[in-house]
Amino acid sequence: MSERTLVLVKPDGVSRGLVGEVISRIERKGLSLVALELKHVSRELAEQHYAEHAERPFFGSLVEFITGGPVVAIVVEGVRAIAAFRQLAGGTDPVEKAVPGSIRGDFGTEVQYNLVHGSDSPDSAKREIDLWFPNL
Ligand code: ADP
Ligand code: MG
Repeated sequence: MSERTLVLVKPDGVSRGLVGEVISRIERKGLSLVALELKHVSRELAEQHYAEHAERPFFGSLVEFITGGPVVAIVVEGVRAIAAFRQLAGGTDPVEKAVPGSIRGDFGTEVQYNLVHGSDSPDSAKREIDLWFPNL
C-alpha cells in the first residue's frame, strides 16, 4: 500500500551539504521522489507548517530557524513511506533519541537543528503536501 510523505531537509542540512546524503538514504530504502524543490520559506509558510507547536516555548526560534536559509522540500512515495522516513530520520533529539545509523543520529547533536522533517501521520502528510506543493 503506497503512500506519500513530506520530507524537508532543513536549513542546517542544506548548509552542511547533506541534501545528497538524505536523498540517497531515501532512495536506498526503496522509496521514490515525486516532487522536489529548493525553497526559501516565508514566515507564513513556516508558521502554518509548524502550527501544532504554536504554543510551545521554542516556536519563535523554530520559525526563525526554518526561515533562516533555503530548505529542500521533497514529496516521497512508497510502501509505508511515512513511518519509513521517520525511521530513517531517527527520533527528534539527535543524541537522546535518534540512534546511530539514522540521519539525525549520524549527523546531529541539537534538538532544534536536527536536519530533517518528516510527516508523522497520513493526516499531517496530506496537510503538509498540500501546503508545500499546492499544485501537485
Ligand atoms: P519531529 O520533527 O521529530 O516530528 P516535533 O514535531 O516534536 O519533532 O518538533 C518539531 C521540530 O521542532 C523538531 O524537529 C525540532 O526542530 C524542533 N524542536 C522540537 N522540540 C524542541 C525543543 N525542545 N527545543 C527546540 N526545538 C525543538
Ligand atoms: Mg513533528
